[in-house]
Amino acid sequence: MNYFSTRDTERTNPKTSAQAIKQGIAQDGGLFMPESIPAISLSEISALSALPYTERAANILSKFLTDYTYDELLASAKAAYSEEKFAGGATGISALGDTHRVLELWHGPTCAFKDMALQIMPRLLSLALKKTGEKRTAYILVATSGDTGKAALEGYKDVDGVKITVFYPEDGVSAMQKLQMTSQTGENVNVCAIKGNFDDAQTGVKKIFSNSDVANKLDENGIFLSSANSINWGRLVPQIVYYVSAYCDLVSEGDIKLGDVIDITVPTGNFGNIFAAYVAKLMGMPFGKLICASNRNNILTDFINTGVYDRNREFFTTMSPSMDILISSNLERLLYLISGPAKCAAYMKSLSENGKYEVEEDVLVKIKESFTADYCTEENTASTIRDTFDKYSYLIDTHTACALYASVNAEMKNAAEGRNVKILTASTASPYKFAADVLKSLGKTPKSESFEVIYELSDATDTEIPAPLAALRDAKVRFTASVGKSWEEMLAASEKFVGIE
Ligand SMILES: *Cc1c(COP(=O)(O)O)cnc(C)c1O
Repeated sequence: MNYFSTRDTERTNPKTSAQAIKQGIAQDGGLFMPESIPAISLSEISALSALPYTERAANILSKFLTDYTYDELLASAKAAYSEEKFAGGATGISALGDTHRVLELWHGPTCAFKDMALQIMPRLLSLALKKTGEKRTAYILVATSGDTGKAALEGYKDVDGVKITVFYPEDGVSAMQKLQMTSQTGENVNVCAIKGNFDDAQTGVKKIFSNSDVANKLDENGIFLSSANSINWGRLVPQIVYYVSAYCDLVSEGDIKLGDVIDITVPTGNFGNIFAAYVAKLMGMPFGKLICASNRNNILTDFINTGVYDRNREFFTTMSPSMDILISSNLERLLYLISGPAKCAAYMKSLSENGKYEVEEDVLVKIKESFTADYCTEENTASTIRDTFDKYSYLIDTHTACALYASVNAEMKNAAEGRNVKILTASTASPYKFAADVLKSLGKTPKSESFEVIYELSDATDTEIPAPLAALRDAKVRFTASVGKSWEEMLAASEKFVGIE
């Protein structure tokens, strides 16, 4: 299976999956995509339903990562995921009434769904370095809206041949997220705040990546850049697995019959998670509507409804910070699949020059064949948390609330259309990562500042604090640096960490 850039109109520059994972982003600024989408049949789904998550993962990954052996992929999956549900990086599904199913993706070490990819991706990168005979150090630069940073630090800490710097928006992450990152252990890790928002961080990292002078200078020092953001195919491909696996679980638990269609709602920021669900659908999974849920930063809702992507709008800081994004990078992959590399490159050029593009009617029609979109205000986020807890004694975080809000709306639309399907909502973080906002949503006033709120939330709801978050009580802050939002300042901080002046 070859990989090509989403902007490579001539398809002149094929890469293996190991090369694509190592490099992260294509030289022309595009994202790597497999040359075709492999198929999965109902009988394969049936066979996978009898297997544990690790074997399902090796099976799906081997369809895309054909230059890795099945045994390499199985060993990587076993090191990354527990086989027990709701624990150690394994998913579980909770039922809310007849229609709603919640896929809990946050039982890994950092309590956000990013672990599902970032526990296995460092292992795929280590294998890629061996496969490609790489002697240089891989230097991973990450822009984070909060959860990726911690998950990447935890995944890459003390991995041989790798160094990592994470940039996060100084005022754009929760107190818990900040403490998780700034207290990170490991000899090869570095964390730096920027005086800007997530889009500034992401734009800065992309600029550093695409600068050939930077690449040459690092190369002279035995270093090359790699990415752990969802622009890297190594992040996306493990996410396909859990959508397949969730369907297998619903079948094996007798909740649905093999072949039954389900809808899927995903709380969306950079469009990575929902894109993985789309790829699973293209493979042949019986998925109906993919419901793209946004918060008040509803640029994707507008795009999917009108075909106009316009980032010239106000940016809001919300209580679901991981979705506070105006440039959803992985949308490029969808545009590429639907309209091809030439149009895709033109849209991206227009986005970088004018902050805006509009797709043609036929492209929009194709997008709407699979996607619908909805968004959730701050008030609706809070009321969804409260209603869900009142009705089901089930506690959700602010991001999951945005998605569940959209799922409830979709249920009503489905009923009006006479569609009777289950709706699977991706739950992307533990409520304890956003404890103060969750507590306020339940109508309580937090008494303590920052960290201590988790005990109040636990008392108020009689739910358990996840062990990795409880352990932060004794954590020491190691990283306090903060730089301006220009890419030059971010580069200077990065070079300093790896000892280049
Ligand atoms: C990253 C994140 C999202 C957004 O996922 P994308 O793949 O960027 O669309 C949603 N919720 C939480 C909790 C996250 O950490």
